[in-house]
Amino acid sequence: MADEVVIQTWCDICMAEELKTTGEPYRINGSRVDLCTEHAGPITTALGLVEKYGWIDKSPAKAAKAPSQALEASRAAPGTLRCPECGKHYKGPQGLGSHRRRAHGILGAFHNRTA
Ligand SMILES: [Zn+2]
Ligand SMILES: [Zn+2]
Repeated sequence: MADEVVIQTWCDICMAEELKTTGEPYRINGSRVDLCTEHAGPITTALGLVEKYGWIDKSPAKAAKAPSQALEASRAAPGTLRCPECGKHYKGPQGLGSHRRRAHGILGAFHNRTA
């Protein structure tokens, strides 16, 4: 048997595909990951994203998707309705409806509106 001590590290991503490609150790989110040059490239460039969004499984492109601003906006004021006439905010359609009826003389939502 060979006495040579050779520590071979295989690319973790290649290993998942049953390919043995020599890899270099990287530290990602505190855990060690061995990556070949082919796989290390896109992942090391995505490391900034990894710090922000956590570990990504194989596709760095997935991490690039940040929650949309529209989603943030809708979350900011749940169930708040805005009067299109004066801009006041109401918690429900009933409050808004009665306000519009009293303050602006508008009956219903969009119909019954005589010019
Ligand atoms: Zn690889
Ligand atoms: Zn109003």
